[in-house]
Amino acid sequence: MTFTNQVQAVAICHTPYKQKFGIPRQPGLVKAAHGYIELQAPFNHIDAVRGLEQYSHIWLLFSFHENLAQGWKTTVRPPRLGGNEKLGVFATRSTFRPNGIGQSVVELRDISQVNGKVRLGIGAMDLLDGTPILDIKPYIPFSDAIANAQGGIAHEAPHTLAVRFTDSAKSAALAAESRYPQLLMLIEQVLGQDPRPAYKRAKQDDKQYQVALYDLDILWRVIDEQIIVEAIRPGQC
Ligand code: SAM
Repeated sequence: MTFTNQVQAVAICHTPYKQKFGIPRQPGLVKAAHGYIELQAPFNHIDAVRGLEQYSHIWLLFSFHENLAQGWKTTVRPPRLGGNEKLGVFATRSTFRPNGIGQSVVELRDISQVNGKVRLGIGAMDLLDGTPILDIKPYIPFSDAIANAQGGIAHEAPHTLAVRFTDSAKSAALAAESRYPQLLMLIEQVLGQDPRPAYKRAKQDDKQYQVALYDLDILWRVIDEQIIVEAIRPGQC
């Protein structure tokens, strides 16, 4: 069945995540991620969010806009299963889905108006910077939180790795905290998720990886099952 229901972005999301690599695979895993969403015309009206300040969390429906060109897949290989097993797209939270729509519960930290734009401060998101937001709804615990729900292959939060910094990387992170509060914690929480592709995890891996956070490139590698942050430098993104 086809129907006509034109969807347009109601807001744009601004996050520390400048590229897909390194973004946590679900919200709530990286609490030190701070960002905001800004309403877009013709929805940019403070009345459109009247009452929302009573909620601690909101649902964001959004477009996986950076993946739309690649279309959808009937089956996908969830990283949880080491990338070796296929599951139906509708049995996963894969980004390669018909209509390319994502959904995340994020922390709502504050509501303000900046330069005429309504701005919602958010935290613990899993969205790329610049993501178009299709809808915003309050998170309602009595209905949305289901005790004893079965979590399938994703019942528990993923295992995390310890993160260590070289002295110079730690100094660089602390120096940048005047611009980006909690940057050190953000790096620890992001890299602790071990963003590497699943097939890399089981093998010896000497590669140096790079994650872009804000306007910084974070360079790191895995040594003895620990993440070592080797350098932090101005980013290319
Ligand atoms: N929580 C959402 C859901 O369940 O629909 C998203 C889950 S999806 C597995 C999370 C991943 O989507 C992130 O790790 C990132 O790689 C990717 N992602 C986030 N924003 C995106 C965007 N705007 N376009 C394409 N991929 C995006």
